[in-house]
Amino acid sequence: MDKVSEGFKSAASAAVPGQRGFDYLIVGAGFAGSVLAERLASELNQRVLIVDKRPHIGGNAYDRYDDHGILIHPYGPHIFHTNSADIFDYLSRFTEWRPYQHRVLASVDGQMVPMPINLDTVNKLYGLNLTAFELEKFFESVAEKKEQIRTSEDVVVSKVGRDLYNKFFRGYTRKQWAMDPSELDASVTARVPTRTNRDDRYFADTFQAMPLHGYTRMFERMLAHPNIKVMLNTDYREMVELVPWKHMVYTGPIDAFFNHKHGKLPYRSLEFKHQTFRQEQFQPVGTVNYPNDYGYTRISEFKHITGQEHPCTSVVYEFPQAEGDPYYPVPRPENAQLYRKYEAEAEQMENVTFVGRLATYKYYNMDQVVGQALATFKRLAQRHQAGAE
Ligand code: FAD
Ligand code: UDP
Repeated sequence: MDKVSEGFKSAASAAVPGQRGFDYLIVGAGFAGSVLAERLASELNQRVLIVDKRPHIGGNAYDRYDDHGILIHPYGPHIFHTNSADIFDYLSRFTEWRPYQHRVLASVDGQMVPMPINLDTVNKLYGLNLTAFELEKFFESVAEKKEQIRTSEDVVVSKVGRDLYNKFFRGYTRKQWAMDPSELDASVTARVPTRTNRDDRYFADTFQAMPLHGYTRMFERMLAHPNIKVMLNTDYREMVELVPWKHMVYTGPIDAFFNHKHGKLPYRSLEFKHQTFRQEQFQPVGTVNYPNDYGYTRISEFKHITGQEHPCTSVVYEFPQAEGDPYYPVPRPENAQLYRKYEAEAEQMENVTFVGRLATYKYYNMDQVVGQALATFKRLAQRHQAGAE
């Protein structure tokens, strides 16, 4: 047993149930940690301590008002979308919503065209006047046949051919991941669909909306339970052996939990450059992608996304980088293989449960993390029940 696990064992055995200490120590106050804290406290009456090393709750979905009074997302634009009524209903207990359909333009060949690629994208880019039916034929004529769709390159060239792939995906992906699309799993570019109609929404999900008063307010309401204590500015390693607890929910990077004993899992990071302009609007839509120029991948303007009215406007530029906070797991076979080593270790740990984008090394959207946390809660509740019987 390594030092960390030893520490866990002694801390856990020091707990006196029902008298002092906590039933659950939750590491990370993002979606994964906050959903579990809320469920465990309000459904099972568990005493929960949720700890985050950052100075705020909400994880990467945290939002705040900047110095100009504009609501921004410090960790990049977060747009809520889901096909799950259950997940939407669950979050609706903690927030009202503002309907919002995200739209994205790509800056390609000196023009701003809709992304995902649709009928208007192709017509504008090539100066054509195709119908949806003709576009389907066009795609068929340029698509490269693939035996097997294995990589992120395969996904795109097998649908829209090499030229559109080069214009919209190759440069953006190389910038975002420092890797050619041929080296990344198909699932990465498969996140972006191709359309033959004129639908220019970035997402097609049934529920698309933003928390009316922001994400942070929603998290505050989730965590506002007398059984939940929040500890910020604290790496869990600083307190894990000081405060008694019985079970841990861990939502940070899984390889860091095990002191990188099998080697580092690659995560892609970003540098966010925030800027405010003394003008009402900066760009026509929420996000403009720059697949082929500049060091940044995209610029997002928050007022489009939040619906806020203000004489100034704030935007964020995203510069991909290798070092820094881990934002994206990197989906490719060798990384999945390394993750499985950590997963096997995680499964051996009786008193720690791993949940969330970093702890399960999955390129999950917010709704998927909420779904994963709710499913995890069900499992923990069953265990709880079995223990009580
Ligand atoms: P996180 O939010 O990362 O929370 C984990 C927390 O654990 C962090 O707050 C961290 O500080 C804390 N932590 C880690 N280690 C320790 C430690 N040792 N001690 C204490 N605390 C620790 N999803 C969407 O659905 N729509 C979008 O539009 C969208 N846009 C995105 C844009 C960007 C730029 C990024 C990076 C992600 C985006 N996502 C989006 C994904 C979304 O951010 C995640 O799905 C979600 O926030 C993951 O929640 P989580 O709780 O798993 O992780
Ligand atoms: N992508 C691209 N060009 C674009 C938009 C996306 O090549 O204009 C690729 C790129 O590899 C990106 C992936 O598709 O990382 C997923 O895009 P998404 O917008 O879902 O990324 P996220 O919002 O998660 O950063």
